[in-house]
Amino acid sequence: MTSILRAQYVLPMDQPPIEDGAVAIEGDTIVAVGKNAEVRAAHTGEIRDLGERALAPGLINAHCHLDYTRLHDEVQWRGSFTEWLLQLVAAKKLHPEKEYLAGIQMGLDMLARSGTTTVVNIESFPRFIEQIPPPQLRVWWCLEMIDFNRSEGAREVAAQTLEFIAGHSIPRGGFGFSPHAPYTATAELYRLCAQYSRGRNIPLTTHLAESEEEDDMIRRGTGRMYDYFSRAGRDMSDCKRVSPTQLLAECGVLGPNCLAAHANYLTPLDVSLLKQTGTHVVHCPKTHRFFGRGSPSLHTWKEHRINTCLGTDSMASNDTLNMLGEMQTLGHMFPRMSAQELLTLATVNGAKALNLREKLGRIGVGAWADLIAAPMDGAGGDPYEAIVYADKQVSFSMVGGEVVFDETQ
Ligand SMILES: [Zn+2]
Repeated sequence: MTSILRAQYVLPMDQPPIEDGAVAIEGDTIVAVGKNAEVRAAHTGEIRDLGERALAPGLINAHCHLDYTRLHDEVQWRGSFTEWLLQLVAAKKLHPEKEYLAGIQMGLDMLARSGTTTVVNIESFPRFIEQIPPPQLRVWWCLEMIDFNRSEGAREVAAQTLEFIAGHSIPRGGFGFSPHAPYTATAELYRLCAQYSRGRNIPLTTHLAESEEEDDMIRRGTGRMYDYFSRAGRDMSDCKRVSPTQLLAECGVLGPNCLAAHANYLTPLDVSLLKQTGTHVVHCPKTHRFFGRGSPSLHTWKEHRINTCLGTDSMASNDTLNMLGEMQTLGHMFPRMSAQELLTLATVNGAKALNLREKLGRIGVGAWADLIAAPMDGAGGDPYEAIVYADKQVSFSMVGGEVVFDETQ
């Protein structure tokens, strides 16, 4: 059964916008895209006219923690990343399971309403995956792995994660590994994750060079984070030698399967390592602002052709999970960035990071029918602006050919 979506503009992303465009869908896949008249001449099926709207590929949120959706008011920024992290760890212990489950649902809903159709979610509690109804969105459940302060060693943590993955299947999306950060995951755990990620061709995502305190700890062997972890009994022999990025490079973590979240504190050598290995960087504009981090290294990443995508991070460092807000924040920070460039970060580049360039982040034959639409009014005739500067929400969302919601009628 074919269905056809028509809109004032269709944004394929790998070719110019199509005015009076249409998309034909069979099952979960796009089978045709072009001018409305051409698509309708070649395909018959149910027609849904989205009117004066721009139709774009769904947004890809490349860094999120749905678990923390209800922790927004419980964690405050007081100027130290280590202190913020400890507040988060303490807050995590205060909530019963049902509140987490409700938070995950609430987070998924926020994401859907604001145009995300694919999310890379760091999951601290894998058991929750089987306790919620299967999400309509595509979720890459990247299982968080930490071997600091645990009775289990790196091999055991890795084995448990592998066992969980082997025993579960995700109907829409998939699994990934998420060794937490260079200060909470050992080199051995990183090495194992890197090996599994390459062997199974599934994503690995990690927090990297996020804070100055992390850089101070790993690279210089000083500072508040160093003091905390040293007192807490962490083996600090990996510190005061190389940067966090170089440490992960030594473990074989960097590469085309790796999504490095944040990457704020990079030396020129770090930048060239990210570039040479084809590592993807995930920038989280509003979280960056929450931590008062100044201008992000966007130009450096662009200049070195490091694939850069966007994420919301969590409600512990953000007031919402809204990729429109992330693009808009970046747009205000870099007024010369066009809406097309911003949308590319949130679609095409996220698809590249998941090594799903053919399936995601584009409207083209063979891609999954993951689509969103927003009104053209107020966009000054630019369909990219209609999406990027849509007011908080989109008016239509579809994932894998199934309508998530439709407020266009
Ligand atoms: Zn994070």
